[in-house]
Amino acid sequence: MSRRTVLKAGATLLLSVTVPLRANAAQILAVRVWPADDYTRVTLENDSDLKATHFIVKDPERMVVDIEGLDLNPTLKSLVAKIQSNDPYIKQVRVGQNRPNVVRLVFDLKEEVKPQVFTLPPAGNYKHRLIFDLYPVKPADPIAAMIEKGDWSGDDKTAAAPPPSPKEQLEQLKPDLKAEPREELKTELKTAEAQTRADKNGKMVRMITIALDPGHGGEDPGASGKNGSREKDIVLSIAKRLKAKLEDQPNIRVMLTRDGDYFVPLGTRVDKARKVQADLFVSIHADAFVQPTARGSSVFVLSEKGATSSAARWLADKENSADTIGGVNVKNHDRQLASVLLDLSTTAQINDSMKLGRSVLGEIGGINRLHKGSVEQAGFAVLKAPDIPSILIETAFISNPEEEARLLDDSYQNKLADAIVTGIRRYFAKNPPLAKNRLT
Ligand SMILES: [Zn+2]
Repeated sequence: MSRRTVLKAGATLLLSVTVPLRANAAQILAVRVWPADDYTRVTLENDSDLKATHFIVKDPERMVVDIEGLDLNPTLKSLVAKIQSNDPYIKQVRVGQNRPNVVRLVFDLKEEVKPQVFTLPPAGNYKHRLIFDLYPVKPADPIAAMIEKGDWSGDDKTAAAPPPSPKEQLEQLKPDLKAEPREELKTELKTAEAQTRADKNGKMVRMITIALDPGHGGEDPGASGKNGSREKDIVLSIAKRLKAKLEDQPNIRVMLTRDGDYFVPLGTRVDKARKVQADLFVSIHADAFVQPTARGSSVFVLSEKGATSSAARWLADKENSADTIGGVNVKNHDRQLASVLLDLSTTAQINDSMKLGRSVLGEIGGINRLHKGSVEQAGFAVLKAPDIPSILIETAFISNPEEEARLLDDSYQNKLADAIVTGIRRYFAKNPPLAKNRLT
């Protein structure tokens, strides 16, 4: 009975109590779980670097992890209660002292997963981290599926009923997703097809796809306010409002780079936008500065040669550190993408981004003081899609108590979203999207 090796934790725990703790036994400081459809992450934060080995056991699916140099403590045991019943991948976790000096975690899984197990050195407010990322073996492509079903057009706002959330849509689509692997070409064709829709008068209109990127998420809280509000929560809330308002337009649909509280690496955000052939990329942030008096909204675009101010450079560096704090498996991370994007000429993208940025900044200026009267430029990693006009909006300073209060206010969030919608519409009025088809 293999359960016994794990579940006789009680007995071995007694043993580990009677054995004097070695001076170098590592301590688990915190455990965190971030369930999401993209992947579920489990983080063990420790006072030292931990060595872990893992293997998969079938029938039923389990992932077994042995961590060396560790004794069970209540923090680690609290992991058991942190697995939610609606976690897409983990059914439950069992924790036990497998043998002196080795703790074993057994993740009972809901489906086959592709695990990534890696460690991160101290970063931000975190000490050493041991990370388990559980990815689906066949990653669902919700966007392609939504396009195929015609659910992703944003053109059938018939009743007052709210549109299903992306998660609900995904739930409905799950049987389809498992049916057959979709070929790249088929997806591309569907994407091209889905770029036009008949309007009320039967006239074909070009669908505009906007990638909305709520900054941070999961392990990366972003900036935080005096009263404890977190950037990652505020920007997700604003992005969801903005999505609904944009999709009220007849020919706009929106892809959120994240729709929950989990971390998406910066390069993956760009990737997601390129996969849906987004016409625009809009990243939403609410940043902080050392002086609480700093205030006002700003809009940033990419810079080809250096930042327009030292404050802009400082901010870009800070935003670019998201991958370090959010936690990316460097071994698996596609480093190539970043360098390819850097090498391509970005002049045209920056020109378009400036136009979009000015239009949006002008509208935001009507509802909040502007930090600076012009669009600024710096090397933000998330703005590096070579073919998509991209802006990053710092909605306000979360570090300024007055602005923190506004950011938490529903009516302010709505006004802000309305201003961004108007800015985007003004941009498209002057710069109509061209027909595009990657197949030709
Ligand atoms: Zn930010």
